[in-house]
Amino acid sequence: MSPAAYIDRHASEVVRRLRWLVGCATVNPPGEHYDEITRWLTRELSSVGLQAKRLTVPQSWMKRYLPPEQQGFPRFNVLGKLAARGARRTIHFNAHYDVVPVSGRWKHGSPFSGKVDRGWIYGRGTADMKGSISSLLLALQSLRATGVKPNFNVEVSFTADEETDSALGANWLVQHAPIRPDYAVVMEGGEGSTVCCGHNGVVWLEVTVHGRAAHGSNPRAGINALEKMSALVVGLEEYKRRLERRSFVTPEGVTMHPTINVGGVFSAGPGGKINTVPALATFSIDRRVLAIENHAAAERELRVVLAATARQIPDCRITVAKTSENFACFTPPKHPFFAAAADSVTRVRRKPTTFNVSTGFNDMHFFSHHLGIPTLGYGPGGEDYHAVDERARVRDLVDAAKIYADLLTTFAG
Ligand SMILES: [Zn+2]
Repeated sequence: MSPAAYIDRHASEVVRRLRWLVGCATVNPPGEHYDEITRWLTRELSSVGLQAKRLTVPQSWMKRYLPPEQQGFPRFNVLGKLAARGARRTIHFNAHYDVVPVSGRWKHGSPFSGKVDRGWIYGRGTADMKGSISSLLLALQSLRATGVKPNFNVEVSFTADEETDSALGANWLVQHAPIRPDYAVVMEGGEGSTVCCGHNGVVWLEVTVHGRAAHGSNPRAGINALEKMSALVVGLEEYKRRLERRSFVTPEGVTMHPTINVGGVFSAGPGGKINTVPALATFSIDRRVLAIENHAAAERELRVVLAATARQIPDCRITVAKTSENFACFTPPKHPFFAAAADSVTRVRRKPTTFNVSTGFNDMHFFSHHLGIPTLGYGPGGEDYHAVDERARVRDLVDAAKIYADLLTTFAG
């Protein structure tokens, strides 16, 4: 039997595993049920023939990267390895196992139901991205059961915290785990007939405007931080137009521009009262960095623009802090690894395949940027990521399993 035929015959396995994964509510923050899910994932990897172990993130890293209220939630990453006889090169598959918090009313009651309804499986994490984990496990199971040898050594990592900043997940893994991949597949970013070859980066800044409090009956005695902040925000319009003039055309012909989103979070400082001149105002800036831009230069430029804009506003004093960042990545899809993946997608889905560059970021850059290896994004995907009634289509889960098995057995590397 071929691996594809085996996968068709065992399609119920992809649902069984995904239901279990969805039921294990690994909500992040704060990082719940990580212990339980990583024990299960380690066992499942062993059961499909890999040498698997769970890696505990050291206390010192926890202290450095997690806020105090999350210190009681230990972090783990799972690593599996399969040595293929005669294979010289290694493909690494990665997925994150954490999910974003839930809200709203779900069609099937609990957001962790894993209910199957007309060919879709519902629940937090079905699309992002526990479905990928389930598809990969079935792909590996099919190779073992049919005795078809992969052309590559296989490494698999299931990592924590992608929904926050990956510091103790993929970031820790690429620096400390015993891995040596030649290629990486991060199992999200591309789906359907689209393979992801890169993604935007991001810089998050928090801008604080410092005014001076005074009694609300005498506003001229103070410096109104909200008014200064408003002027500053309006002053950024010109910079937005500058960014709009820069562009990058992706391999599929989509034109992307760098962007800023201002004030996703904004607030008054402590002591804000209706009869007090506000002494403090803060707002966030989310700067999306194109794959072709220099990350450090993009941050520097934004800081210079902020300082220059503030200088033109009387009594506008600001401080700027970086709260997070993620690097962009892009591999031109001329590389044979990308051609092979596209061929696998086309063979299984019987449609031409295109390459995209994702506006959102994922863990690809840790492999592409840090390890410097060709890295692509592809998974079963789904609908309503991070939203109510998140779901994945069973047929796409099965197809993704076939695509992973096909890539491992057809790409010559
Ligand atoms: Zn994700």
